[in-house]
Amino acid sequence: MRVLEGGCLCGQVRLSVRGEPKRIGICHCTDCRQESGSAFTFYGIWPAGQFEHRGETAGFSGRRFCVKCGARLFSADNEEAEIKLGSLDAAPTGLTPTYELWIKRREHWLRPIDGAEQFEEDRPQRGGRW
Ligand SMILES: [Zn+2]
Ligand SMILES: [Zn+2]
Repeated sequence: MRVLEGGCLCGQVRLSVRGEPKRIGICHCTDCRQESGSAFTFYGIWPAGQFEHRGETAGFSGRRFCVKCGARLFSADNEEAEIKLGSLDAAPTGLTPTYELWIKRREHWLRPIDGAEQFEEDRPQRGGRW
């Protein structure tokens, strides 16, 4: 089973995910913009049982970050873990988004990703939060 490893900028927090992601997304919403300080977030969703992390994190609205360097890392509940894919050690990741959320907030100089399902706002509920 494939294992992907990553962590925060300072190295205090390390994380890993096993196996294939359930889905991979890009989100352009205002919360993701303000959290990241960038124009969108790029993340993958794995079953919660295939995600592990160590090191001290703090959270805001379920979004976990390193207490030392502030790197944004993941959100997780009992069912799913959403990993910020920029935290993976490998760059590029080799992972391609399967959907985009909040495209009405997408910067006009960004184009839709080929083959990625497009949603004006949130993903309709199909199991899982994001
Ligand atoms: Zn850190
Ligand atoms: Zn968002």
